[in-house]
Amino acid sequence: MMNFLINIFLWLVSGLLKYQPSREQNLRPSSPVYTCPSCGSHHTIKNGSTHNGKPKRQEQECSQPFVSNPTNKTISPDTKQLIPQLLLERIS
Ligand SMILES: [Zn+2]
Repeated sequence: MMNFLINIFLWLVSGLLKYQPSREQNLRPSSPVYTCPSCGSHHTIKNGSTHNGKPKRQEQECSQPFVSNPTNKTISPDTKQLIPQLLLERIS
């Protein structure tokens, strides 16, 4: 009885060991695709990083540098101009 259980255990372990490499390959995250905002090409190369640690990339087709997923926390002048206008429209 014990031998039978050990055999099953060994069979399971060997199965897991055999299975692991392929599973690791499947779990490996595929490299994210960066799209050039100017021409839409995916042929981008690493080009250092910005001051806030964001990976900076350069596109090979039009050699246009861009930041992947840029965090734009500052309000643009256009938006700043729009806020008083919207407030005035609400009041009036
Ligand atoms: Zn481009």
